[in-house]
Amino acid sequence: MSSSPVNFHDLTREQLRALTVRWGFSPVHAARLWSYVYLERVDAWALMPELPARYRAKAEAELVFARLPVAVETHSADGFTRKYLLALADDRRIETVLMRYTGRVTACISSQAGCAMGCVFCATGQMGFVRHLTPGEIVAQALHVDRVLQGAAGGERLRNIVLMGMGEPLHNYDAVMHAIDILRDSSGLGIGAKRITLSTVGVVPGIIRLADEARPMHLAVSLHAAIQEERAALVPVAGKWPLAELMDACRYYIAKQERRIFYEWTLIEGKNDTLESAHAVGRLLRGQQAQVNLIPLNPTAGYGGAPTGREAAKKFQAVLAEYGLPSTVRQRRGIDIDAGCGQLAAAK
Ligand code: SF4
Repeated sequence: MSSSPVNFHDLTREQLRALTVRWGFSPVHAARLWSYVYLERVDAWALMPELPARYRAKAEAELVFARLPVAVETHSADGFTRKYLLALADDRRIETVLMRYTGRVTACISSQAGCAMGCVFCATGQMGFVRHLTPGEIVAQALHVDRVLQGAAGGERLRNIVLMGMGEPLHNYDAVMHAIDILRDSSGLGIGAKRITLSTVGVVPGIIRLADEARPMHLAVSLHAAIQEERAALVPVAGKWPLAELMDACRYYIAKQERRIFYEWTLIEGKNDTLESAHAVGRLLRGQQAQVNLIPLNPTAGYGGAPTGREAAKKFQAVLAEYGLPSTVRQRRGIDIDAGCGQLAAAK
């Protein structure tokens, strides 16, 4: 009985090597195959002439390069954001976004189809959980953006990744870390750890595990409110992992990794953008190695809130500065193409 082929992009370099040896071939061929795919960006067997014919035939029978076809593609009017709705093999849809901010190109990739966390203002949360993505499906999103960049004038390469698309990455911990190992491999795509940001809504066991493992990358924690009851109203998982527990985990992470945390704060007009809220953030994070990223709300059909204006955001920032907390106000790009997480998938 023949088993179905393995997705090449599910494999780390070491796993490909072990598989090749198990098939009875030299690991040298695995190394060449890996470099064809991840250095030369070739994923057609016919374009790999340096692989011995017998090895190529075996690999072709056992492995597939599972690309994710584009179901829908939209470009923002300002040209800085491109959003892709990619089709999975089971016909689910996920979102991947290519963003250009101040000379930097970043792929925003998804870790799950849908999301179980239920944040009230988020289109993916409003959709509910569908399933976890495999490592190969996560890697394939980065490869898709890389191919788009290669095809563009100047032939750029993907250098920055944020796991801020659909899903909660720490809810799909093993697959996400496996994918990150593949993306970071210095004999392949070689995305530097400092160029990868993982964003969590506050899955405490995942933060502690990340702190204990030697996995250098940036961590962003979506805070949105600095008082437990207010936070639980926006982010239901705060009921499971309350703010006090989350802060303990964050302080543990900072101490263990000797790295600051980026706190994400969706600014919702009249809800969490008052000076009182800003003081609450200041009191909560004072003394931590932290930066606060303020993001005016991306309006969604399922949530009535409105984004905070520029002036109110500046006043909020000024209060944070009083507590010694650096902050940024993120530019709202791609609103015209539903670039907020899950919005395009929900619209389709
Ligand atoms: S904001 Fe993130 S964690 Fe919250 S529901 Fe949306 S995708 Fe899930």
